[in-house]
This record gives sequence, structure tokens and C-alpha cells, in this order.
Amino acid sequence: MTTRLVSGWPPLGAVMLGVLLGLGPSTAARAAEDVPRWMGTYVFPVTTLGTGRRAGSATLILEPTFVYLARSRWSQARIVEAAHTAASLLQQCDVTIRWVRLHLVDGPERYADFHVPAARDLVRRLPYPKPTVYFVRDTRQRIAFDAEAIGRGNSASRPELQDTVWITEAVRDPGIALAHELVHVLMDSGEHVDLPRNLMRDETAAENRELTPEQCARLRATGQANGLLKAAGGPRPAGRRR
Ligand SMILES: [Zn+2]
Repeated sequence: MTTRLVSGWPPLGAVMLGVLLGLGPSTAARAAEDVPRWMGTYVFPVTTLGTGRRAGSATLILEPTFVYLARSRWSQARIVEAAHTAASLLQQCDVTIRWVRLHLVDGPERYADFHVPAARDLVRRLPYPKPTVYFVRDTRQRIAFDAEAIGRGNSASRPELQDTVWITEAVRDPGIALAHELVHVLMDSGEHVDLPRNLMRDETAAENRELTPEQCARLRATGQANGLLKAAGGPRPAGRRR
């Protein structure tokens, strides 16, 4: 039986089990079609209403890469809507998402759900710029979260998964969950707070949208130090579709 939690930052102990049970060499010989395949990319602009700009803070740009699994029921429309909501929440810290690259990936059944051995294999075979958000069908982790984030502090035994977020179909309020998990990655922290209406409460809910000036300062500093946020003014990606 598994506990179903809303958001996770699993400790290394839980992760090691996945490593020990990982795929052995007997599975090395696989048919060419038995691997994840890139099916297409959609680049969409993210516009948010208003700016929640804080006096004196310079705009920082976040350019996450999104991947969704063809075997899931995630749709482009649901993902784009989540991106807009997440972007509007991050505006509180003057962090802007201008564009998102969304890749569609198909492949064998084992990649459709989040499970550390398959996830590591997927990321090795199809490496995308970080931070990367994977919209998956479900989770097969023993401690099951609707969404989880893996930063630097909890990725030592699974380095491929550093700076990735995994969101299942069952997640409530996908935009809020997406922002919450991105904040975990940007802060490189699994910490939750008890403040009312705060985005980083352990339970994702429609009314939990706020970030404090201290949380903003921390995610901006750590995000920049880890190369996940950059100063505004860079070039836009060339081409809208391919
Ligand atoms: Zn969390």
C-alpha cells in the first residue's frame, strides 16, 4: 500500500531503493523501437496579466522545458493553462516565463509513469535543458506523490534527475502545483511553510498562491547561482514550431 501525498521532495533513503532494484544488464539488449521517441515540439509564449513587480528588483527569466508523455492524458491545452497560472504566481518574485518549449515523447509503457529507474533512463536518452518538467500519467514510486521535485540536495544518487519536476495527471490545480514544484527546484529546498495562503504550504490548494519577500529573495539568489534563472534581455528562441 502506498501513501498518496500531494507534493514531494523524497529523501535519499527512499531513492536508494530504486537504485538497488534498477534494471540489470539482462535488459541491455533492446529492440530499437523499445526506447522513448521524440514526436514533436511546440513553442508557446506565456503572457501574464499585471506584473507583481517588487520595487527595485530586476526581472529574472525562467525558461523551463516541458515534456509530456503521449501515453498520458495530458493535453497541450491543460499544460499551456498550467504554465500561464504558474507564470502569474512567479511574477510575485519578478521572475518571468516568456516562452516554453513543450516536447511530446512517446515510447514503451514503462516511461509513462514516474519511476526513478525509468525516469533516469528517459532523461539519459532524451536530455533536455533544465529545469525540465515532465507531465506523466501516474507514479509508480513506493511513496506516491501527485507531483514531485528533484533539486541538487536530493539528487546525489540519481544525478540525471537534478532540476526536474514530475507531475501526474491526478494533480489538483496543475498551475499552482507546477509553480510550487518549480519553487522547490529554484530554491533547491524541499521545505514547506505553515503561513496561510502561502504557495509553499505542503498541500496544493487554489487559495495557496502567495510567496513572501524572503522566499522570493531565496529563490532568486539560489536560482541564479544554479544557472536556472538569468537576467532579462536575452534573445528569444528562433522558430515557433518544428
Ligand atoms: Zn512541496
